[in-house]
Amino acid sequence: FVKLQGRNNYKVYQAAINSQATELFILENSLYNALERQEFKVYYQPQVNSSTGEITKMEALLRWQHPELGLIPPATFIPIAEETGLILPISEWVLKTACLQNKAWQQTLNLSSLSVAVNFSGRQFQQPNLVGIVEQVLCETKLAHRYLELEITETVAMQDVELTQKILRQLDEMGVTISIDDFGTGYSSLSYLKDFSIHALKIDQSFVQDLANKDHQTAITTAIISLAHGLNLSVVAEGVETQEQLNALRILQCEIMQGYFFSHPLSAEEATRMLTAYQPHRLKDSYLLA
Ligand code: C2E
Ligand code: MG
Ligand code: MG
Ligand code: MG
Repeated sequence: FVKLQGRNNYKVYQAAINSQATELFILENSLYNALERQEFKVYYQPQVNSSTGEITKMEALLRWQHPELGLIPPATFIPIAEETGLILPISEWVLKTACLQNKAWQQTLNLSSLSVAVNFSGRQFQQPNLVGIVEQVLCETKLAHRYLELEITETVAMQDVELTQKILRQLDEMGVTISIDDFGTGYSSLSYLKDFSIHALKIDQSFVQDLANKDHQTAITTAIISLAHGLNLSVVAEGVETQEQLNALRILQCEIMQGYFFSHPLSAEEATRMLTAYQPHRLKDSYLLA
């Protein structure tokens, strides 16, 4: 195909490949030093209980502040971190940072029941002694186990079902909670839901976006919510951006929501200011009136 396009086009194509490869090479190289250079930042996005207006949990979302390339989103560098194995030290740092931050918010802002959710990717979840690492971080940061939630995707959970079952049981016994992220987007059977010790399903934002558009059906979101309720799991809607989506979710009895409608992910400093000024009843009043 490329040859048929002629020599010049082939060169363009080749150049595009090279620059992609170069960028990947640069990213991979600077990723090795990013941790010690303190270029990573954890951002936090609130999960809101739509009945009370309360913020129940903050999800930790990793960012890389690259000195030349600027703020790099996780989708760009986490795959490289996974491939190189750098994901292990990086995610241990994320876990520790998020637990420390949550403990600090509990103490200084008097938010004693605030929880934190941390994303775990495939390689992390497969690492030997994952449970020991989580235990050690909780011990060091003095965060009570029940205030930590780990988010894994269906794909990660299904990589090795027996191992997942074992790890989730151990985490559950420790009191750490588990949620299934991007629920409904993985290729997996539903039967695992009854075998795994999980606590919540997070409805993927693609389904939540469909709620706004009246021409689209709400069937998938409705099904996920009733599935969660039927299995006694809590359910969180991701990517809530509009009042219409919020209204639709409340009618479907999905209480916990996360998305730009409430807040973008915030730096630790911004999140501290937001939490300090936050008044649950004001949010509740304003959207109930709408
Ligand atoms: P996720 O865990 O499903 O996180 C939700 C993503 O949706 C975040 O993107 C968040 O910024 C974005 N989002 C939140 N509200 C809205 C909304 O209303 N509309 C839209 N369009 N988007 C919204 P982000 O921060 O770029 O993270 C992307 C993914 O990277 C995460 O998806 C998660 O899978 C992964 N990730 C983030 N931090 C970490 C980490 O510390 N470790 C690992 N292993 N993965 C991480
Ligand atoms: Mg997540
Ligand atoms: Mg998600
Ligand atoms: Mg995602």
